Amino acid sequence: MRSSRFRTGTATRHLGQSNKEASSWSKLSRAIADLELSGTAPTVICRPRQRQLLAGLTVIDTTHERSPGVARRRVYVETYGCQMNLADTELLLGLFRQGGYDPVAEPEQADVILLNTCAIREHAEERVVGRLGDLFRHKARRPDLQLGIVGCMAQHVRDRLLARLPFVDFVVGPDAYRRLPQVLNEHRPDPYIDVQLDRTETYADLVPEREAGVRAWVTIMRGCDKFCTFCIVPYVRGRERSVPMAHVLAQVEQLARAGFREVVYLGQTVNAYHDGEADFATLLRRTNEIPDLLRIRFTSPHPADFTEATLEALATCEKICPYVHLPVQSGSDRILERMARGYTVEAYLHLVERLRSVRPDVALSTDVIVGFPGEEEADFEATLQLMREVRFDQAFMFQYSPRSGTKAARWPETVSPEEKQRRLQAVIDLQEAIAFERNQAWVGRVVEVLVEGPARKRDGAWCGKTPQFKTCVFAADEAPQVGTLVPVRVRSANSHTLFGEPEFTASDGAATVGGNGR
Ligand code: SF4
Repeated sequence: MRSSRFRTGTATRHLGQSNKEASSWSKLSRAIADLELSGTAPTVICRPRQRQLLAGLTVIDTTHERSPGVARRRVYVETYGCQMNLADTELLLGLFRQGGYDPVAEPEQADVILLNTCAIREHAEERVVGRLGDLFRHKARRPDLQLGIVGCMAQHVRDRLLARLPFVDFVVGPDAYRRLPQVLNEHRPDPYIDVQLDRTETYADLVPEREAGVRAWVTIMRGCDKFCTFCIVPYVRGRERSVPMAHVLAQVEQLARAGFREVVYLGQTVNAYHDGEADFATLLRRTNEIPDLLRIRFTSPHPADFTEATLEALATCEKICPYVHLPVQSGSDRILERMARGYTVEAYLHLVERLRSVRPDVALSTDVIVGFPGEEEADFEATLQLMREVRFDQAFMFQYSPRSGTKAARWPETVSPEEKQRRLQAVIDLQEAIAFERNQAWVGRVVEVLVEGPARKRDGAWCGKTPQFKTCVFAADEAPQVGTLVPVRVRSANSHTLFGEPEFTASDGAATVGGNGR
């Protein structure tokens, strides 16, 4: 077969790329070889400019013709990265549904496959490139399948992705989703590229397609104006803009009517929300009035954007949960300044004190980066000291790694990989011990759990979150109703989970609140 001439070395020579590119092309080669072994003649969709890259393969088409007679098409989405990306996937699914597509659970079933990507984490690009290489086998079998990349990574490394993966049909940034369903129905000889950032796009009018459950994630603002020196977000998601409050409230009212019991407001700097008239505190207070909604959360606030009005809302709105994710990143003023975080250690600690004074039951989590360029032992010690002082309930801890396009990526790295690893392990060990102690303090107490469903790892057990966003697993003879608040007495705890026994029976209506019967 002609395709047996498709070899990694050949592809690499054509591409003139590194070994990493060779590896993704090698995956394509292997996928095609698999087809050959299975007796299926490999076919490859290819545009004119790609022919040279695929020389030696059976190239059978250069466009994306629709199968005649198929009214609705099928879309499959894979999501990488943060909760904002998951929320964007729900948005995309809603958009595609409106545009005549039905979501499917497996790539085999899809007419369109898209990877909603993230540029924030290290190695994200390699993962996505590798996955696209895997998914290419579907395209090899079904030439009219459309395969593409959306999201932050599409925005960030468009040219590199196209060079590495010339078979992709579209590359679309996070502000350019609107036209995608329509564009994919059009005849196009070349890949569709749209990575234009839009200072006004909030997708306020679109209806996301959400998974059923008790918790709904609602994006209330997009982008970021902070430009921390290590972070790529402002470059790939653009500047801050907020969804008008009326749209947000209407969406949450609809969600509450549909049975969701908890809403989580999302934004890169969520407490910077301002739609021109209403600020974040106003939005929180108005949300607190929505009937049938039991809980309100938000993530992630920026320490510098906390206002007295927001603290006041936290103190007085009973539906706002006592849990705040408050990224600190470093406990050293010198490093915070290099990071351009916009606050000092003193200001951060003052905010922690204020949060704990208005909500004594508040749980705090944070993000920590170790090994930032210029971080010396004393700076690292200051981070450990801050963690000991605040005693976070949870922390997300990372070694610094540069993101191309950021200011810090131009600075020399001053901390060796081994030292970064040592520092990371030290913060992890410290945090594990603190989280364990903080969770032990719950043993013997009764917590209110919003029931989410059966526990994954324990037969006959149920799980949900406490107001402090702690996972609570409890055994129950009678199944509790999903979406209700139930009292659970905590009997034991580790650093991540509380374990308890119900202080209710399923027939004990007085012990439960709400419920959507899902
Ligand atoms: S506040 Fe800083 S770390 Fe957070 S998204 Fe904005 S630039 Fe990135």
